Amino acid sequence: MADTATKAGFTTEFYESLFEVADGENIKTCLQCADCSGVCPFGYLMDFPPGRMIAWMRAGILDEMLDTDSVWMCVSCYACTEVCPKNIPLTPGLMTRAKEELLLAGNIPAELQNALEFSQRYGNPLGESPRKRAAWAEDLDFDIPIMRKAKRPVDVLWFVGDYASYHPRVQETTKAFAKLLNKLGIDFGILGPEENSDGDSQRLAGERGLFEMLAEKNGKAFGKYEFGEIITTDPHAYNAIKNEYPKLGVEYPVRHYAEFLAEHIEELKPLLKGVGEKKITYHDPCYLGRANGIYDAPRALLEAIPDVEIVEMAHTKSTSLCCGGGGGGMWLDGFQWEKGEVRLSDWRVKEAVTAEAEVLAVACPYEPPRFEDSTKTVAGAEGIVVRDILELLIEAMK
Ligand code: SF4
Ligand code: SF4
Repeated sequence: MADTATKAGFTTEFYESLFEVADGENIKTCLQCADCSGVCPFGYLMDFPPGRMIAWMRAGILDEMLDTDSVWMCVSCYACTEVCPKNIPLTPGLMTRAKEELLLAGNIPAELQNALEFSQRYGNPLGESPRKRAAWAEDLDFDIPIMRKAKRPVDVLWFVGDYASYHPRVQETTKAFAKLLNKLGIDFGILGPEENSDGDSQRLAGERGLFEMLAEKNGKAFGKYEFGEIITTDPHAYNAIKNEYPKLGVEYPVRHYAEFLAEHIEELKPLLKGVGEKKITYHDPCYLGRANGIYDAPRALLEAIPDVEIVEMAHTKSTSLCCGGGGGGMWLDGFQWEKGEVRLSDWRVKEAVTAEAEVLAVACPYEPPRFEDSTKTVAGAEGIVVRDILELLIEAMK
Protein backbone atom coordinates (compact mmCIF):
# COMPACT_ATOMS: atom_id res chain seq x y z
CA MET A 1 0.00 0.00 0.00
CA ALA A 2 2.74 2.45 0.94
CA ASP A 3 4.22 2.57 -2.59
CA THR A 4 0.86 3.02 -4.31
CA ALA A 5 -0.48 5.54 -1.80
CA THR A 6 -0.97 9.07 -2.95
CA LYS A 7 0.26 11.77 -0.61
CA ALA A 8 -2.87 12.93 1.08
CA GLY A 9 -1.66 16.47 1.56
CA PHE A 10 -2.88 16.76 5.11
CA THR A 11 -2.66 20.11 6.76
CA THR A 12 -3.64 21.52 10.09
CA GLU A 13 -7.12 21.84 8.53
CA PHE A 14 -7.48 18.10 9.03
CA TYR A 15 -6.66 18.40 12.74
CA GLU A 16 -9.10 21.26 13.11
CA SER A 17 -11.83 19.38 11.20
CA LEU A 18 -11.84 16.85 14.04
CA PHE A 19 -13.27 19.53 16.33
CA GLU A 20 -16.52 19.42 14.30
CA VAL A 21 -17.33 15.87 15.53
CA ALA A 22 -19.34 15.75 18.79
CA ASP A 23 -16.82 16.21 21.66
CA GLY A 24 -14.11 16.59 19.01
CA GLU A 25 -12.49 19.55 20.75
CA ASN A 26 -11.50 17.12 23.52
CA ILE A 27 -8.65 16.04 21.27
CA LYS A 28 -6.79 19.12 22.49
CA THR A 29 -6.76 17.58 25.97
CA CYS A 30 -5.09 14.29 24.99
CA LEU A 31 -2.77 13.17 27.79
CA GLN A 32 -0.62 10.92 25.62
CA CYS A 33 -1.34 8.11 28.06
CA ALA A 34 -1.46 5.61 25.13
CA ASP A 35 -4.38 3.68 26.64
CA CYS A 36 -6.09 3.89 23.24
CA SER A 37 -3.11 2.43 21.39
CA GLY A 38 -2.65 -0.27 24.00
CA VAL A 39 -6.24 -1.50 23.79
CA CYS A 40 -6.44 -1.33 19.98
CA PRO A 41 -6.62 -4.91 18.64
CA PHE A 42 -4.40 -4.03 15.68
CA GLY A 43 -2.41 -1.34 17.49
CA TYR A 44 0.70 -3.50 17.46
CA LEU A 45 0.57 -3.64 13.65
CA MET A 46 0.00 0.08 13.16
CA ASP A 47 2.84 2.52 12.53
CA PHE A 48 0.49 5.13 13.94
CA PRO A 49 -1.98 3.86 16.52
CA PRO A 50 -4.43 6.57 17.65
CA GLY A 51 -2.35 8.11 20.48
CA ARG A 52 0.72 8.45 18.28
CA MET A 53 -1.42 9.95 15.49
CA ILE A 54 -2.39 12.72 17.86
CA ALA A 55 1.22 13.32 18.93
CA TRP A 56 2.34 13.62 15.31
CA MET A 57 -0.56 15.88 14.39
CA ARG A 58 0.38 18.18 17.23
CA ALA A 59 3.88 18.28 15.80
CA GLY A 60 2.41 19.16 12.40
CA ILE A 61 3.68 15.97 10.74
CA LEU A 62 0.58 14.89 8.90
CA ASP A 63 1.48 13.61 5.44
CA GLU A 64 3.80 10.87 6.65
CA MET A 65 1.37 9.70 9.25
CA LEU A 66 -1.56 9.22 6.91
CA ASP A 67 0.49 7.90 4.04
CA THR A 68 0.88 4.53 5.77
CA ASP A 69 -1.41 1.51 6.07
CA SER A 70 -2.19 2.21 9.71
CA VAL A 71 -5.60 3.71 9.18
CA TRP A 72 -6.88 0.70 7.18
CA MET A 73 -6.05 -1.59 10.10
CA CYS A 74 -8.77 0.16 12.12
CA VAL A 75 -11.95 -1.95 12.44
CA SER A 76 -13.93 0.86 14.15
CA CYS A 77 -14.39 -1.27 17.25
CA TYR A 78 -14.73 1.65 19.71
CA ALA A 79 -12.24 0.05 22.14
CA CYS A 80 -9.99 3.14 22.04
CA THR A 81 -12.94 5.50 22.47
CA GLU A 82 -14.20 3.43 25.40
CA VAL A 83 -10.97 3.68 27.40
CA CYS A 84 -9.94 7.26 26.63
CA PRO A 85 -9.89 9.17 29.93
CA LYS A 86 -10.45 12.47 28.09
CA ASN A 87 -13.55 11.28 26.20
CA ILE A 88 -11.98 11.90 22.80
CA PRO A 89 -14.16 10.53 19.96
CA LEU A 90 -11.36 8.49 18.41
CA THR A 91 -13.50 6.02 16.45
CA PRO A 92 -16.18 8.34 15.02
CA GLY A 93 -13.76 11.29 14.81
CA LEU A 94 -10.06 10.72 14.28
CA MET A 95 -10.11 7.30 12.59
CA THR A 96 -13.21 7.88 10.45
CA ARG A 97 -12.06 11.33 9.28
CA ALA A 98 -8.64 9.91 8.46
CA LYS A 99 -10.26 7.19 6.31
CA GLU A 100 -12.31 9.87 4.52
CA GLU A 101 -9.11 11.72 3.64
CA LEU A 102 -7.41 8.55 2.40
CA LEU A 103 -10.38 7.71 0.19
CA LEU A 104 -10.28 11.20 -1.31
CA ALA A 105 -6.58 10.69 -1.99
CA GLY A 106 -7.25 7.35 -3.71
CA ASN A 107 -5.41 5.36 -1.04
CA ILE A 108 -7.88 2.48 -0.64
CA PRO A 109 -7.50 -1.34 -0.54
CA ALA A 110 -9.12 -2.96 -3.60
CA GLU A 111 -11.51 -5.23 -1.67
CA LEU A 112 -12.94 -2.26 0.22
CA GLN A 113 -13.35 -0.36 -3.02
CA ASN A 114 -15.42 -3.25 -4.46
CA ALA A 115 -17.78 -3.25 -1.47
CA LEU A 116 -18.25 0.50 -1.75
CA GLU A 117 -18.90 0.30 -5.49
CA PHE A 118 -21.44 -2.50 -4.98
CA SER A 119 -23.16 -0.43 -2.30
CA GLN A 120 -23.40 2.49 -4.69
CA ARG A 121 -24.66 0.40 -7.59
CA TYR A 122 -26.88 -2.19 -5.91
CA GLY A 123 -27.65 -0.72 -2.50
CA ASN A 124 -25.78 -3.52 -0.71
CA PRO A 125 -22.05 -4.30 -0.33
CA LEU A 126 -22.41 -7.90 -1.53
CA GLY A 127 -23.33 -6.92 -5.08
CA GLU A 128 -26.64 -8.80 -4.90
CA SER A 129 -29.77 -7.88 -6.80
CA PRO A 130 -32.07 -5.53 -4.83
CA ARG A 131 -35.00 -7.57 -6.19
CA LYS A 132 -33.76 -10.59 -4.21
CA ARG A 133 -33.72 -8.80 -0.84
CA ALA A 134 -36.67 -10.77 0.44
CA ALA A 135 -35.79 -14.08 -1.28
CA TRP A 136 -34.74 -15.54 2.13
CA ALA A 137 -38.45 -15.65 3.06
CA GLU A 138 -39.49 -17.92 0.19
CA ASP A 139 -39.11 -21.26 2.01
CA LEU A 140 -40.98 -20.23 5.15
CA ASP A 141 -44.42 -21.76 5.65
CA PHE A 142 -45.99 -18.38 6.40
CA ASP A 143 -45.97 -15.07 4.54
CA ILE A 144 -43.64 -12.19 5.34
CA PRO A 145 -45.57 -9.00 4.67
CA ILE A 146 -43.75 -6.64 2.30
CA MET A 147 -44.93 -3.08 2.93
CA ARG A 148 -45.39 -2.14 -0.72
CA LYS A 149 -47.74 -5.07 -1.26
CA ALA A 150 -49.37 -5.18 2.19
CA LYS A 151 -50.58 -1.57 1.84
CA ARG A 152 -51.48 -1.22 5.53
CA PRO A 153 -49.96 0.25 8.70
CA VAL A 154 -47.97 -2.16 10.91
CA ASP A 155 -46.77 -2.01 14.51
CA VAL A 156 -43.20 -3.00 13.62
CA LEU A 157 -41.15 -2.23 10.53
CA TRP A 158 -38.37 -4.83 10.50
CA PHE A 159 -35.19 -3.42 8.91
CA VAL A 160 -33.57 -6.71 7.94
CA GLY A 161 -30.11 -5.54 6.84
CA ASP A 162 -27.64 -6.66 4.16
CA TYR A 163 -25.98 -9.80 5.53
CA ALA A 164 -29.22 -10.93 7.18
CA SER A 165 -30.95 -10.65 3.79
CA TYR A 166 -28.33 -12.15 1.50
CA HIS A 167 -25.67 -14.22 3.31
CA PRO A 168 -26.71 -17.91 3.22
CA ARG A 169 -25.48 -18.62 6.77
CA VAL A 170 -27.00 -15.49 8.25
CA GLN A 171 -30.34 -16.09 6.52
CA GLU A 172 -30.85 -18.86 9.11
CA THR A 173 -30.91 -16.23 11.88
CA THR A 174 -33.20 -14.04 9.78
CA LYS A 175 -35.68 -16.87 9.42
CA ALA A 176 -35.45 -17.53 13.15
CA PHE A 177 -36.48 -13.93 13.90
CA ALA A 178 -39.36 -14.19 11.42
CA LYS A 179 -40.56 -17.32 13.24
CA LEU A 180 -40.29 -15.60 16.63
CA LEU A 181 -42.28 -12.60 15.43
CA ASN A 182 -44.87 -14.99 14.04
CA LYS A 183 -45.09 -17.01 17.26
CA LEU A 184 -45.46 -13.85 19.33
CA GLY A 185 -48.23 -12.61 17.04
CA ILE A 186 -46.37 -9.36 16.25
CA ASP A 187 -47.85 -7.23 13.47
CA PHE A 188 -44.83 -6.52 11.28
CA GLY A 189 -43.69 -5.83 7.73
CA ILE A 190 -40.41 -5.47 5.81
CA LEU A 191 -39.36 -3.12 3.01
CA GLY A 192 -38.06 -5.93 0.76
CA PRO A 193 -36.56 -4.45 -2.46
CA GLU A 194 -37.10 -0.93 -1.12
CA GLU A 195 -34.59 -1.52 1.70
CA ASN A 196 -31.03 -0.29 1.07
CA SER A 197 -27.88 -0.90 3.06
CA ASP A 198 -27.99 1.04 6.33
CA GLY A 199 -24.63 2.48 5.22
CA ASP A 200 -23.04 2.62 8.67
CA SER A 201 -20.01 0.48 7.87
CA GLN A 202 -19.48 2.43 4.64
CA ARG A 203 -19.55 5.66 6.69
CA LEU A 204 -17.02 4.30 9.16
CA ALA A 205 -14.87 3.14 6.25
CA GLY A 206 -14.68 6.76 5.13
CA GLU A 207 -17.48 6.96 2.53
CA ARG A 208 -19.65 9.63 4.11
CA GLY A 209 -21.26 10.65 0.80
CA LEU A 210 -22.35 7.08 0.07
CA PHE A 211 -23.71 6.75 3.60
CA GLU A 212 -25.81 9.88 3.11
CA MET A 213 -27.15 8.61 -0.21
CA LEU A 214 -28.17 5.26 1.33
CA ALA A 215 -29.68 6.94 4.40
CA GLU A 216 -31.69 9.23 2.18
CA LYS A 217 -33.06 6.28 0.19
CA ASN A 218 -34.01 4.43 3.37
CA GLY A 219 -35.53 7.62 4.78
CA LYS A 220 -37.71 7.96 1.69
CA ALA A 221 -38.86 4.35 2.01
CA PHE A 222 -39.64 4.79 5.74
CA GLY A 223 -41.62 7.92 4.90
CA LYS A 224 -43.95 6.02 2.55
CA TYR A 225 -45.38 3.78 5.24
CA GLU A 226 -47.08 3.91 8.62
CA PHE A 227 -45.49 1.93 11.46
CA GLY A 228 -45.01 2.23 15.20
CA GLU A 229 -41.26 1.56 15.40
CA ILE A 230 -38.32 0.05 13.55
CA ILE A 231 -36.74 -3.19 14.80
CA THR A 232 -33.49 -4.41 13.31
CA THR A 233 -31.51 -7.63 13.50
CA ASP A 234 -28.27 -5.75 12.81
CA PRO A 235 -26.43 -3.63 15.43
CA HIS A 236 -24.83 -1.62 12.63
CA ALA A 237 -28.23 -0.71 11.20
CA TYR A 238 -29.40 0.01 14.73
CA ASN A 239 -26.49 2.38 15.29
CA ALA A 240 -27.10 4.15 11.98
CA ILE A 241 -30.86 4.62 12.40
CA LYS A 242 -30.58 5.57 16.07
CA ASN A 243 -27.54 7.86 16.06
CA GLU A 244 -26.73 8.94 12.52
CA TYR A 245 -29.96 9.15 10.49
CA PRO A 246 -31.48 11.81 12.81
CA LYS A 247 -28.57 14.12 11.89
CA LEU A 248 -29.90 13.90 8.31
CA GLY A 249 -33.50 14.52 9.35
CA VAL A 250 -34.49 10.82 9.24
CA GLU A 251 -35.86 10.25 12.72
CA TYR A 252 -37.75 7.13 13.83
CA PRO A 253 -37.85 5.07 17.03
CA VAL A 254 -35.61 2.02 16.59
CA ARG A 255 -34.62 -0.99 18.69
CA HIS A 256 -32.34 -3.97 18.21
CA TYR A 257 -34.14 -7.30 18.41
CA ALA A 258 -32.55 -8.07 21.79
CA GLU A 259 -34.25 -5.09 23.43
CA PHE A 260 -37.51 -5.84 21.67
CA LEU A 261 -37.60 -9.52 22.63
CA ALA A 262 -36.47 -8.81 26.20
CA GLU A 263 -39.64 -6.76 26.54
CA HIS A 264 -41.59 -9.87 25.48
CA ILE A 265 -39.64 -12.23 27.74
CA GLU A 266 -42.62 -13.27 29.88
CA GLU A 267 -44.48 -14.35 26.73
CA LEU A 268 -41.39 -16.18 25.47
CA LYS A 269 -40.55 -18.10 28.65
CA PRO A 270 -43.45 -20.59 28.55
CA LEU A 271 -42.47 -21.46 24.95
CA LEU A 272 -38.83 -22.27 25.81
CA LYS A 273 -38.31 -25.97 26.53
CA GLY A 274 -34.51 -25.90 26.41
CA VAL A 275 -31.48 -26.81 24.33
CA GLY A 276 -30.04 -29.31 26.81
CA GLU A 277 -27.59 -28.62 29.63
CA LYS A 278 -25.20 -26.35 27.81
CA LYS A 279 -22.51 -23.85 28.75
CA ILE A 280 -23.18 -20.74 26.68
CA THR A 281 -20.95 -17.70 26.37
CA TYR A 282 -22.11 -14.46 24.78
CA HIS A 283 -20.03 -12.23 22.55
CA ASP A 284 -20.98 -8.54 22.90
CA PRO A 285 -20.98 -7.02 19.39
CA CYS A 286 -19.13 -3.66 19.30
CA TYR A 287 -22.14 -1.74 17.96
CA LEU A 288 -24.62 -3.18 20.43
CA GLY A 289 -22.29 -3.03 23.44
CA ARG A 290 -19.59 -0.37 23.45
CA ALA A 291 -21.24 1.93 20.90
CA ASN A 292 -24.76 1.74 22.36
CA GLY A 293 -24.50 0.32 25.89
CA ILE A 294 -26.80 -2.71 25.41
CA TYR A 295 -25.37 -5.51 27.56
CA ASP A 296 -28.24 -6.87 29.67
CA ALA A 297 -31.03 -7.60 27.17
CA PRO A 298 -29.12 -10.28 25.17
CA ARG A 299 -28.05 -11.99 28.41
CA ALA A 300 -31.63 -11.88 29.74
CA LEU A 301 -32.79 -13.77 26.63
CA LEU A 302 -30.13 -16.45 27.08
CA GLU A 303 -30.89 -16.78 30.78
CA ALA A 304 -34.53 -17.41 29.90
CA ILE A 305 -33.56 -20.72 28.22
CA PRO A 306 -33.99 -23.55 30.76
CA ASP A 307 -30.95 -25.56 31.94
CA VAL A 308 -28.24 -23.45 30.34
CA GLU A 309 -25.26 -22.04 32.19
CA ILE A 310 -24.01 -18.62 31.07
CA VAL A 311 -20.25 -18.23 31.31
CA GLU A 312 -18.37 -15.03 30.52
CA MET A 313 -15.21 -14.78 28.45
CA ALA A 314 -12.17 -12.92 29.76
CA HIS A 315 -13.10 -9.83 27.74
CA THR A 316 -16.76 -9.09 28.24
CA LYS A 317 -19.27 -6.24 27.98
CA SER A 318 -17.38 -2.97 27.46
CA THR A 319 -14.04 -4.80 27.13
CA SER A 320 -15.38 -7.28 24.56
CA LEU A 321 -12.98 -8.20 21.74
CA CYS A 322 -14.02 -7.18 18.23
CA CYS A 323 -14.86 -9.95 15.70
CA GLY A 324 -13.04 -7.85 13.09
CA GLY A 325 -16.08 -7.22 10.89
CA GLY A 326 -17.25 -3.74 11.81
CA GLY A 327 -16.54 -0.39 10.23
CA GLY A 328 -15.51 -1.91 6.92
CA GLY A 329 -13.48 -4.73 8.50
CA MET A 330 -15.72 -7.22 6.64
CA TRP A 331 -14.20 -5.84 3.43
CA LEU A 332 -10.61 -5.64 4.62
CA ASP A 333 -10.04 -9.23 5.73
CA GLY A 334 -7.56 -10.03 2.96
CA PHE A 335 -5.68 -6.75 3.39
CA GLN A 336 -5.44 -7.17 7.16
CA TRP A 337 -4.43 -10.82 6.87
CA GLU A 338 -1.57 -9.76 4.61
CA LYS A 339 -0.39 -7.30 7.25
CA GLY A 340 -0.58 -9.49 10.33
CA GLU A 341 -1.58 -13.05 9.37
CA VAL A 342 -4.05 -12.89 12.20
CA ARG A 343 -7.86 -12.83 12.43
CA LEU A 344 -9.52 -11.04 15.34
CA SER A 345 -12.30 -13.65 15.31
CA ASP A 346 -9.67 -16.31 16.15
CA TRP A 347 -8.72 -14.46 19.34
CA ARG A 348 -12.36 -14.32 20.39
CA VAL A 349 -12.89 -18.02 19.73
CA LYS A 350 -9.76 -18.80 21.78
CA GLU A 351 -11.43 -16.98 24.68
CA ALA A 352 -14.55 -19.10 24.22
CA VAL A 353 -12.34 -22.21 24.40
CA THR A 354 -10.73 -20.96 27.63
CA ALA A 355 -14.20 -20.28 29.09
CA GLU A 356 -15.03 -23.94 28.28
CA ALA A 357 -18.13 -22.81 26.40
CA GLU A 358 -20.06 -25.26 24.24
CA VAL A 359 -22.02 -22.52 22.48
CA LEU A 360 -20.77 -19.11 21.37
CA ALA A 361 -23.89 -16.93 21.23
CA VAL A 362 -23.93 -13.83 19.05
CA ALA A 363 -26.34 -11.02 18.17
CA CYS A 364 -24.89 -9.49 15.00
CA PRO A 365 -25.12 -10.81 11.42
CA TYR A 366 -21.40 -10.30 10.82
CA GLU A 367 -20.51 -12.86 13.45
CA PRO A 368 -21.80 -16.38 12.67
CA PRO A 369 -19.71 -16.84 9.49
CA ARG A 370 -16.61 -15.23 11.01
CA PHE A 371 -16.67 -17.22 14.24
CA GLU A 372 -17.62 -20.47 12.49
CA ASP A 373 -14.55 -20.09 10.27
CA SER A 374 -12.44 -19.64 13.39
CA THR A 375 -13.86 -22.70 15.14
CA LYS A 376 -12.47 -24.72 12.22
CA THR A 377 -8.90 -23.55 12.80
CA VAL A 378 -8.51 -22.61 16.48
CA ALA A 379 -7.16 -25.51 18.58
CA GLY A 380 -9.77 -26.88 20.97
CA ALA A 381 -12.66 -25.05 19.29
CA GLU A 382 -13.87 -27.98 17.14
CA GLY A 383 -16.78 -28.69 19.50
CA ILE A 384 -17.96 -25.08 19.86
CA VAL A 385 -21.21 -24.27 18.13
CA VAL A 386 -21.83 -20.68 16.99
CA ARG A 387 -25.45 -19.58 17.20
CA ASP A 388 -27.27 -16.28 17.04
CA ILE A 389 -29.50 -15.81 20.10
CA LEU A 390 -32.46 -15.93 17.70
CA GLU A 391 -31.49 -19.42 16.55
CA LEU A 392 -31.07 -20.60 20.16
CA LEU A 393 -34.53 -19.30 21.09
CA ILE A 394 -36.15 -21.14 18.18
CA GLU A 395 -34.12 -24.29 18.93
CA ALA A 396 -35.30 -24.07 22.56
CA MET A 397 -38.91 -24.11 21.41
CA LYS A 398 -38.61 -27.46 19.61
S1 SF4 B 1 -6.44 7.31 25.48
FE1 SF4 B 1 -7.17 9.42 25.04
S2 SF4 B 1 -5.86 10.71 26.32
FE2 SF4 B 1 -4.82 8.73 26.22
S3 SF4 B 1 -3.41 8.91 24.43
FE3 SF4 B 1 -5.33 8.04 23.66
S4 SF4 B 1 -6.49 9.82 22.93
FE4 SF4 B 1 -4.88 10.62 24.30
S1 SF4 C 1 -11.61 1.85 16.73
FE1 SF4 C 1 -10.68 -0.10 17.39
S2 SF4 C 1 -9.37 -0.73 15.66
FE2 SF4 C 1 -9.86 1.47 15.36
S3 SF4 C 1 -8.14 2.56 16.30
FE3 SF4 C 1 -9.75 2.38 17.87
S4 SF4 C 1 -9.23 0.48 18.99
FE4 SF4 C 1 -8.06 0.47 17.06
